[in-house]
Parts: sequence; C-alpha cells; structure tokens
Amino acid sequence: MSQNYPEWIWQNGEIKPWRDATVHVMAHALHYGSSVFEGIRSYATPDGAAIFRLTDHLKRLYLSAKIYDIEIPYTIDELAAACRDVVKKNDLLAAYLRPVAFRGLGGFGLSAECPTDVAVATWPMGPYLGPEALENGIDACVSSWQRFAPNTIPAGAKAGGNYLSGQLIAREARRLGFGEGIALASTGLLSEGAGENLFLVFDGVLHTTPASASILAGITRNTLITLAREEGLEVVERDLPREYLYLADEILMCGTAAEVTPIRSVDGKQVGSGKAGPITRRLQERFFGLFTGETKDRWGWLEKL
Ligand code: PMP
Repeated sequence: MSQNYPEWIWQNGEIKPWRDATVHVMAHALHYGSSVFEGIRSYATPDGAAIFRLTDHLKRLYLSAKIYDIEIPYTIDELAAACRDVVKKNDLLAAYLRPVAFRGLGGFGLSAECPTDVAVATWPMGPYLGPEALENGIDACVSSWQRFAPNTIPAGAKAGGNYLSGQLIAREARRLGFGEGIALASTGLLSEGAGENLFLVFDGVLHTTPASASILAGITRNTLITLAREEGLEVVERDLPREYLYLADEILMCGTAAEVTPIRSVDGKQVGSGKAGPITRRLQERFFGLFTGETKDRWGWLEKL
C-alpha cells in the first residue's frame, strides 16, 4: 500500500482519522511482540461486498489471544461490526482487513498486566505475491531459517512475535531473487511458506502439512480442503520431507493475502510442467468462483458487508 493510507481506522471502539490512531512507544507489544492479529479479505461479489469467513477469522483471533491471556474487551459481534464499519467508512469493496489486539501501555515487565488495545485497519490490496503470481506462479526457495519448534512458540497462534520468523524467511527469499521462502520445521520436515500454507499434488492427490509441522492452520487451507473434497479430490494432511518439493506434480501456496498461488519452481528446480497444473487451476477456479458467484457458497463463508 506504500504511502496511500486510507482515511479512517477503527481504534478502541471508535472510527477515527488514520493519522490519529497512535500508541505509546512503551506499549508492551512494541517491545515483546505481544500482539495477536488477523488478515481478512473482503471481495466485491454480484450481491455486493462480502467479507470472506469474517467470523472464522475473528474466532481464530480470540483463540490466539486466549493462548497469550490477552483479554479482548469486545465481543466477536462487536469486532465484526467494527470490521464492517471501517470498510464501509473508507468506501472500500475489495479490501484487506487487519484486526489487531495487543498489550498496550501498563508496565515494563514481561508479565505486566497491560490493558489491551484493539484496532481494525483496512486498505485496498491486490495479489500479495505480485500481479503475475496468480497466473504464472512464483519461484520459491527453501529457507535457511527453520520455523520455531512447537515447544518454543505456538505456531497455531497468529501472534505478532511469530512474524520475526516470517520476516527472516521472506526477506531472505526476496534477497536471493525468489518470490517466497518455504521453511522446514524443527523436525527437518516441511512446514509452510513465510505467510502461506502449502499443498503438493502427487498423482491427483493433494497433500498438505499437518498442524504439528509448526504451521498456522490457515482458513484458506481449510477452504481449499473443503472445495477439493467437494470436487471428489482426496486430501491428506501428513508429514512431508523436503525432497517432495522437487518431486511433486504441482505445488501451490495459499493464504488470505496470497490467495491460491501456483509454485512453478523450488530451489531452481521446475515443478511439474513449470506452469500451474490442472488441480491448481481447478482449485483457483473454485476459490475465485466464490466471489463471482460461480461457486455456490454452501457454507455461509461470504459475510455481507
Ligand atoms: N501461515 C502463516 C504463517 C500465515 O501468516 C498465514 C496468513 N495468515 C497463513 C499460513 C495462511 O492463513 P490464512 O489462510 O488463514 O490467511
């Protein structure tokens, strides 16, 4: 979004001008990574704008907060209303939404009882991994950085501090000229992308890494598992060794920001034909079809603005 900030933001119960949504430099989260957040998209659909799986995202926000004892002083319904209000106030249809809750100003110690600050920002966002990525796919690499072990930092919480790992992975990949980095777990087995889950296709079957592989079990991942099974495709959640990245017929990355992005090479080795394969294409059609109306939303995922 570079410097084009939207006009309005929601902070602690009110919509205010973007520039006024400030925090103190001694806010706990700034020093210790003690924030939890979500990334959500709204889409323009034939029936008007809809926020995709808003409730599921907010439920995950509260679960992330629960892990860290961050008390969010609003109900899910109140935060859902805040999300809708701020998108509307900024006159957006297709947008990215960023609810965040964090320990604010209230003490200097690690276990200090700080009040929770909550904000919801929103801004227009196109394809996260670049305009060509959805069509042509991206070149990925395996990162020299591992994901954190499960008994160190819980990957299942979407917490600010986790994204130090994500930054190392993503920045290293970009520095080396790749579109995105893929990390191994502390077990040496495959984990996920810097901010995306992974699907590998072998002989028409989709394989994705399990929750125990230090991943954030994404809502897009769950969406694709559901859509694939509806198509009669088999999906297995399983441990995957690194070399499977070089052997798969197709690989895709998915996430709210990355949507459904084909991977055309890993570590310079071509994946399959080097183009998005038939299963990736089918899942893209089914996924984006939710927003054009071609895929029937049988799950109530499109939540009206
Ligand atoms: N893994 C990580 C580390 C992420 O940051 C994200 C993006 N939230 C995902 C996976 C994908 O999750 P979702 O589909 O819920 O956006």
